[in-house]
Amino acid sequence: MKKIPLKSHHQFFGDRTTGYFGGQYIPEILRPALLELEEAYKHIFPSKPYQKELQELSKHFISRPTPLIYAQNVSKILGNEIYLKFEGLANTGAHKINNALGQVLLAKKMGKKHIIAETGAGQHGLAVAACCAKLGLACEIYMGAIDANRQRPNVFNIELFGAKLISVSSGSQTLKDAVNETLRVWSKRSQDTFYVLGSALGPYPYPDLVRDLQSVIGREVKRQCKEYFQGLPDYLVACVGGGSNAIGFFRDFIQEESVKLIGVEAGGIGEAMGENAARMDKKSTSSVGIAQGYKSIFLQDTHGQLSPTHSISAGLDYAGIGPQLAFLGTIGRIQFLSAQDKEALYALQFFAKNEGIIPALESSHALAGVIKICEKVKNKKIIANVSGRGDKDIFITAKALKPTEWRLFLEEEIERIKGV
Ligand SMILES: *Cc1c(COP(=O)(O)O)cnc(C)c1O
Repeated sequence: MKKIPLKSHHQFFGDRTTGYFGGQYIPEILRPALLELEEAYKHIFPSKPYQKELQELSKHFISRPTPLIYAQNVSKILGNEIYLKFEGLANTGAHKINNALGQVLLAKKMGKKHIIAETGAGQHGLAVAACCAKLGLACEIYMGAIDANRQRPNVFNIELFGAKLISVSSGSQTLKDAVNETLRVWSKRSQDTFYVLGSALGPYPYPDLVRDLQSVIGREVKRQCKEYFQGLPDYLVACVGGGSNAIGFFRDFIQEESVKLIGVEAGGIGEAMGENAARMDKKSTSSVGIAQGYKSIFLQDTHGQLSPTHSISAGLDYAGIGPQLAFLGTIGRIQFLSAQDKEALYALQFFAKNEGIIPALESSHALAGVIKICEKVKNKKIIANVSGRGDKDIFITAKALKPTEWRLFLEEEIERIKGV
């Protein structure tokens, strides 16, 4: 692929019609809704009242700024200075709420009464439902029927926030079908309804709006670094699903060319098609394509059909990647690694035991990336974005790490329920 100089990167996104990646590849029926969103993004979003309210809610509702933790014990073991930006302390447990809050607030300022959103594992749905409860908007969360069945705890919490969960039983009954259903509903009801999209992808202006809302992560990090050391870090490391925590973390460092930016994708259980979700690191099974409203790099077959993917972490289990990361990867500004399921599980235990934090399985991929980098370099300043906390993963991690004890606990729990 042709190398594109970094200086000209602005012409490749922030664009509705063309662009090497990104764009707005949508059915005509969605055009008015996206044009209205574009107007709001250009005029309401940068306005003083909106930004002021966003900042206040970020502080008092999300609990920002989240801390930058010096990981002293791990640093000693790995021979580098390692810092953790802990987004897991944000309300609802992950960075997703930075984006959800910004979009729900924008919807409110636009005079919309209803919020709709898609969700795969349920983390985005949970964040959106919490923000709707806080700001008093009606909320519908679309979830593939299979996902809704296997993500019971999130479904339970989404409903606790007063949102309506709509189980989508078309197609493969997973995230891709939930996205299609949400778009279909939005095209009919955009007059009074706002679609809150969950990652830095989809048709313009969503990737730009989500990047701007998540860039609070990197801005805080830049400030917080100063409490620990002079100058810039050497490495920033983030996990990459759709790409929103990574682009938000990297945003303020893209022009600082001495800072190495590392994205870590899901290496799953192997290199073959369907065994992972590595679009940038395993280039043999991915290529440029157009899906779900945008042009980017997708895991797809020779007919352009999106491939099945696998990851132990639901948030990284997606065939596409946001257009900004695809672009920055293509020009070499971001390097991509992948971490396998078992490497993420190892990193989870290693950081929990030595630093007293439980990272989400997604974030554990970034931490596995840190361990890999430390095998090659010493005495560098490395900051990892811990995009979420791992409480939500107990049904997966307990089963993987303590299968017998976990099974016994669940069986006993069923017996206890029978008693009441
Ligand atoms: C959803 C999720 C991700 C992946 O999404 P991005 O858009 O790539 O950030 C990563 N970490 C956590 C904790 C998540 O919930």
